[in-house]
Amino acid sequence: MFAEVIVDIPAAQVNRPFTYEVPENYQFSIDIGMRVEVPFGSRQLMGIVVKFLPKIDPALAGKIRPITRLLDYQSFLNEELIELSYDMTEELQTFHITVLSAMLPSMLKVKYETVFKLLDSAAYQSQLADWRLSSEIFETIPRESLEAKLSAGQIKQLLDAGIIEVEYRVLNQARKKYIETIQLAQPVDVLEEALAGLDGRSHKQRDLLSYLLEHAAELPLASKQVLEATAVSRSTLKTMAEKGWLELAQQEVYRDPLAEQTLHKTQARPLTEEQAAAYQAILPAIENHEPKTFLIEGVTGSGKTEIYLQLMERVRQLGQTAILLVPEIALTPQMVGRVTGRFEKGVAVLHSGLSVAEKYDEWRRIINGDASIVVGARSSIFAPLANIGLIIIDEEHETTYKQSDNPRYHALDVAKWRAKYHQAPLVLASATPSIESRARGEVGNYELLRLTQRVNQRPLPPIEIVDMTQVAVQETLNEFSPRLQAAIQERLAKQEQVVLMLNRRGYASSILCRECGHVMQCPRCDISLTYHKAEHQLKCHYCDYHQGVPSTCPNCQSHYLRTQGMGTQRIAETLQELFPEASVVRMDNDTTRRKGQHRKLLDTFGRGEADILLGTQMIAKGLDFEKVTLVGVINADTSLSIPDFRAGEKTFQLLTQVSGRAGRGEFPGEVIIQTYNPDHYVMQLVKDHNYEGFFYSEMQRRHLTNYPPYYYTSLITVKSKHQGKAMRRIYDIKTQLARPEWLANDQLHILGPSQGAIARINDHYYYQLLLKYKQKDAIHAGVQEVFAKIQEDAKQGVYISIDHNPLQFI
Ligand code: ADP
Ligand code: ZN
Ligand code: ZN
Repeated sequence: MFAEVIVDIPAAQVNRPFTYEVPENYQFSIDIGMRVEVPFGSRQLMGIVVKFLPKIDPALAGKIRPITRLLDYQSFLNEELIELSYDMTEELQTFHITVLSAMLPSMLKVKYETVFKLLDSAAYQSQLADWRLSSEIFETIPRESLEAKLSAGQIKQLLDAGIIEVEYRVLNQARKKYIETIQLAQPVDVLEEALAGLDGRSHKQRDLLSYLLEHAAELPLASKQVLEATAVSRSTLKTMAEKGWLELAQQEVYRDPLAEQTLHKTQARPLTEEQAAAYQAILPAIENHEPKTFLIEGVTGSGKTEIYLQLMERVRQLGQTAILLVPEIALTPQMVGRVTGRFEKGVAVLHSGLSVAEKYDEWRRIINGDASIVVGARSSIFAPLANIGLIIIDEEHETTYKQSDNPRYHALDVAKWRAKYHQAPLVLASATPSIESRARGEVGNYELLRLTQRVNQRPLPPIEIVDMTQVAVQETLNEFSPRLQAAIQERLAKQEQVVLMLNRRGYASSILCRECGHVMQCPRCDISLTYHKAEHQLKCHYCDYHQGVPSTCPNCQSHYLRTQGMGTQRIAETLQELFPEASVVRMDNDTTRRKGQHRKLLDTFGRGEADILLGTQMIAKGLDFEKVTLVGVINADTSLSIPDFRAGEKTFQLLTQVSGRAGRGEFPGEVIIQTYNPDHYVMQLVKDHNYEGFFYSEMQRRHLTNYPPYYYTSLITVKSKHQGKAMRRIYDIKTQLARPEWLANDQLHILGPSQGAIARINDHYYYQLLLKYKQKDAIHAGVQEVFAKIQEDAKQGVYISIDHNPLQFI
């Protein structure tokens, strides 16, 4: 038998499968998707098995080398994912190994050791005796010792019989957890007789046995729990196990990432008319296995989640599985709570907030078929579920669904591929769909389903735009307009809650010299340093540079340095001065760094223990708190000035999302947005809750400027420490790509070369080309040529990245 293996070298020349022989002793244990060690040239490399070949071209015989060893005993990638990896590699113009690695659970990307865990020592002993081998009995056996003793085939036999099990131990000890359980070893009637036959002195045994018989239906039970309930000692338990009445076993327990979160069991609710219409539109696609894409455009608070839950319920009834993607951990506490509240044990949760060990357990639950619903962030789209019946992407417009480094995939594209593979519908949902998705809804590529009302006819909150240019001239330095201050005061008096957002997108507080205007810059990047008050340090947000705050200006030696701009911390201080009686929860990168902290802060606020939730854009989405009746945006403008053709779209989405936090309960809400651009079209349309209006005016702008969805875009970036080399290479690339047959009649536009929005990061100079084209053929061949030379360029200290459909331009 032979196997095709993708080896772990990201280089264009080896971006294809290599054939190896599968040694006899691995033939039964090897599987598609497993990692193997293979000889490559003079080296030994990691590789991933993508295909088996029964035989090979005789011309190759003699040149084929054998696989050195298996690195896994269990595969985490199924045939579907391998097939997907081929298409992604082609589509993204990247390395196959990079794609495959992105699909693996992060567990396998960190350093770990493999051990075998003994599950059934009696069977192990007798099996080894059969094979005439001596056996030492340890709970865990290091991989090397067992492999020295047994052949791969024998190990496989033990694994298949459930006598031993593979365990990965990561550097931080991703260990499975076990508990001991009790099971009856004899039929109930036999044991009832035995119970009757026990004499008076054995009352402990009697207690235990009668307890177990009483609870026979619930067995196996955890030993610990039984011993506590019956006040019987361990030795009694052992005695009875030795008598052959009971059986003790080690049962794996999964670490529960939700353990600290209380489950609020919820029931399906009767759907509103609009919810029911959307549900009924999607249902037939689930039942008839149609790979259609639906776009739910539903205003904030229209009850999209309830639709997801009821659709997933139907999928489960049909014996199928579902994936629900959510943008980020910030959104997950409430969303995850709702899903687990409905489906309890059948849910696996994957997100960046889990420890490696927790993630590993969740993956195993998926592989073992113990979870039929997966909720998670971007990479969960690779969850190795079988028989998928539905994929849902919540807040589909979020840019976190696209990975910003290699492989630069978008979860939406992967979802489409998998939905098609499984003949399952894909549901995208948002209050503010991306312009591209909404445009597909317009032309019928997606089926557009609109929810225009909040649940229970609750009104959307009125939005007031406060013109800060007027306020600034009258008032002092403080960031709160009199209008916003009065509104906050009113809420505090009525004991209602307030959400305040500081828009940090494209924004940072820096240190400025008041005499010469010098702004402290990162010496390695062309960007100002951000002042971090807690550590009293200046930090670069693009590299790891940091320094203390100087006492004099490095430019003019003046002592008049002051901070410019604002952080959440400073706003929190101002709030406290203005409203000394208010209790404020602050949520930003600093206060949510520790695991679980995010959820704790939200819980505090949710229980009503704080009056004001102040945060960065991480508070804009998904929060559903009944008592919030005022949302204030302190600075709406910063995200408008990002050098990105989507700046308007992003600002509209952010402001609409955060506005949607107000008035979700029975009390009506209100939104106040402070801006220096009150007449900007984005502000006006946000004010009117007019997503549709925004969509049409944005489409006009995109049409005029030849941007998506009218054109595709790709971004080619060159970076190097040598400015000259970077520049030369980017001009070469432009020449390579500028094919006259495509440049004619507007099929292809090439913008640039231009310097990156930040021209220098970490001492590397950035240059880019933005390609705009009508069909992929216009650039594919040219980009492939660039791709083929990536390694060669890298050896010269010139690094090239290719990003199709870029969402970030820095
Ligand atoms: P969205 O995700 O569209 O912003 P949510 O799913 O958060 O909206 O729903 C808003 C609120 O309405 C939630 O508190 C939810 O529990 C409630 N809700 C949703 N559907 C119904 C329904 N059919 N009947 C009553 N309440 C509902
Ligand atoms: Zn100065
Ligand atoms: Zn820097």
